This record gives sequence, structure tokens and C-alpha cells, in this order.
Amino acid sequence: MSVEPLHAGPLTLAQRLTRMILASGPISIAQYIAEANAHYYATRDPLGSAGDFTTAPEISQMFGEMVGLCLADVWMRSGRRPNPYYVELGPGRGTLASDALRAMEQAQLAPRVHFVETSPVLRECQQARLAHARFHDDLDTVPEDGPLLVVANEFFDALPIRQIEKTQAGWRERVVVPRPGREGEAFVGMAGERPMEAAVPAALRDAQDGEIYESGPAGAAVGFALAQRIARQGGAALLIDYGYEGPALGDTLQAVRAHKMTDPFDDVGESDLTAHVDFTMLGNVARQAGLRVYGPIGQGAFLTRLGIDARADMLVRTSPDRADEVRIARDRLVNTDQMGDLFRVMAFTHPDWATPEGFA
Ligand code: SAH
Repeated sequence: MSVEPLHAGPLTLAQRLTRMILASGPISIAQYIAEANAHYYATRDPLGSAGDFTTAPEISQMFGEMVGLCLADVWMRSGRRPNPYYVELGPGRGTLASDALRAMEQAQLAPRVHFVETSPVLRECQQARLAHARFHDDLDTVPEDGPLLVVANEFFDALPIRQIEKTQAGWRERVVVPRPGREGEAFVGMAGERPMEAAVPAALRDAQDGEIYESGPAGAAVGFALAQRIARQGGAALLIDYGYEGPALGDTLQAVRAHKMTDPFDDVGESDLTAHVDFTMLGNVARQAGLRVYGPIGQGAFLTRLGIDARADMLVRTSPDRADEVRIARDRLVNTDQMGDLFRVMAFTHPDWATPEGFA
């Protein structure tokens, strides 16, 4: 079947997806998210007040410092294994890495730096911050000859999820089609025809019509690859995200643009698409690979146990003019009505490694 071009010049992402759907049928929610986010991250630096959203490391240096301290401490208590690597997944502007590495240096730990990042725009920001960093498209090419100290902050939430909806006919994969009357511009999500009963955990199958079950095959694959590497090479990982303990029902797909929620099916590739992370699933894949799993615990509890309050006091003493700024940032990261409970921290470690601080 041939499809008439919608447009003479180079196609926009919306036009390209529309042509693809007209030619070969509706695409899955997962494929839609993958296409949208690949375009989104490849074409901009989305972080900070002038961008679309702000992450914990962009709020304060204290966040990256506590992450770095946690990893340095667990490395020291696990026998200071030689030749460690700092590996970050989706490092954004490189802010977390530069704060974490500075904190590690104080503990006499200077790992080599490897980033898993697909966005050329963000790679450039990261290289400007950390000239020695090496880049990878995925974990496959990360070196294998030393333990891995891994960080992923707001990385897993950007990976595609599938959505499965309970309909009168049974559980069906949700799909994306052009929005009637706005073909080539906007889309709409709806239950498709593919039966998916087998993908829904038995305990959730008896749900009301309209309920949605999400699964994260991409997150599971990255989590498993990461866990297998740590099982072979030694090391520890800290995964920090907005997430839940699954399995659970609920539609968590969100779009954010200029710090406001928008419709995920409007302006494809121009807003940040995320879904909440199923920490139970991540914990299970790590255990399958033979690792120890800690958490998830609230970000607030984690940062407090690692000493963010003492660090805030120290920053206030050295620059009293910044006291308000430091206190406000500390509260944003820690308080339960801000990021402290919504964001969770999970750790994976090699079974011979010590328990990371913060997960008492
Ligand atoms: N960790 C940073 C940035 C979070 S935004 C912070 O906390 O500020 C998500 C990051 O993941 C971006 O750097 C984005 O380019 C990257 N990313 C998204 N999807 C990716 C993928 N599939 N593979 C590699 N990196 C990805």
C-alpha cells in the first residue's frame, strides 16, 4: 500500500507518525513514547526554569553530594575494589555527576566516568562539565574490567511503557491513532484490538472497565542488563525516580511542558513524557540477577540519613548570604509535601558488597 505524502517539505514528527499509522495501523503507546521522547531529548536541553522541568540535582548541589557520598562510602566499606567506574544513565546537564564526583574525591575516590546518554544536545552539556567523560548509547559498551558505581535519576521514568486497558471485550493494548479532524498534528490514545489478558497479573485482572495496567518492558530490560553487569563486575546502583510498588492499576503517563501538565497526545515530541516507575519490577529483575536490593525509600529519608542537614548548615556557615536559598532547596528535596516522599530511592548491590548507608 502506498501513502500520499501529507506535506511536500521535510516531515514533522507528527506527520511522520501519522503516515506510519495510516500505512501500517495504530502504534503502541510504547512506540509513541519512544518516538516522542527520542525527538524531544535530541532537540533541546529541557532542564531548569527556562526549560520544561527541574530535577533534584538542578535544585541544589547537596543532592549530588549525598549521592556521591553514599557510593563512596559503600565502595570503601566493600574493600575499596580497584578500577571503579562511575556510570550515570541519562545524566541531563551533568550536574549530578559533577557534584557526586567532587564528594567522592574528598573520600579519595576518583572513578573513571562513563555516561549512557542518547541526546547529542545533552552530551555536549555533559562534556562541557566533565571533559573526561566517555559516552555510550546503552550499557552494552560500558567497560567490564572494574566495579560499577551507578546512578540513574529521573531516567527510568523517561523509558516507554505499555498500557493495557480493561474493556467490555477484555484486556486490550492501548494504541495511538491520529486525532479525528487533526490528522498530521495531534493524536489520541484508545483501546486497540490486541487481546492482552496474559500480560496482566492475575490479581488485577478482575478490574472495572476503563482501568489501565502499565508495564515497563524497556525499564525491565535496562534494569536487568544493569543488574547482570553488577553481578559480574561488582558494584552498586542508586535508582531515583517518581514511582510506586507494583503491580498496580492506573494511568501514569504524563506530559510536561514549560513546568505545566499538558496532553501527552498533543504536540508530539515537544513535551517531556514520563510514567511512574514500578520499583517492585526493578527489584525483582535485580534479585533475579543475584543482587541485593534495598528500598525503595523516600528521597527525603535517604538524604536525611546521609547528612543533608549537616551539609546545609555547613553551606550556610560558609556563605551566610545564601542561607535562605540553601534552606529552601533542602526543604524542596526533603519535605514530604514536596519531593521527599514522591521520589523514591532504590539501591542494588553485588551480594559481596556492604549495605549502602541510608537504607537502615
Ligand atoms: N538525570 C538528569 C536528567 C533527567 S532527564 C537529572 O536528574 O537532571 C532524562 C535523561 O535521560 C536525559 O539526559 C535524557 O537525554 C536521557 N535519556 C532519555 N531516554 C534515554 C534513553 N533511552 N537512553 C539514554 N538516555 C536517555
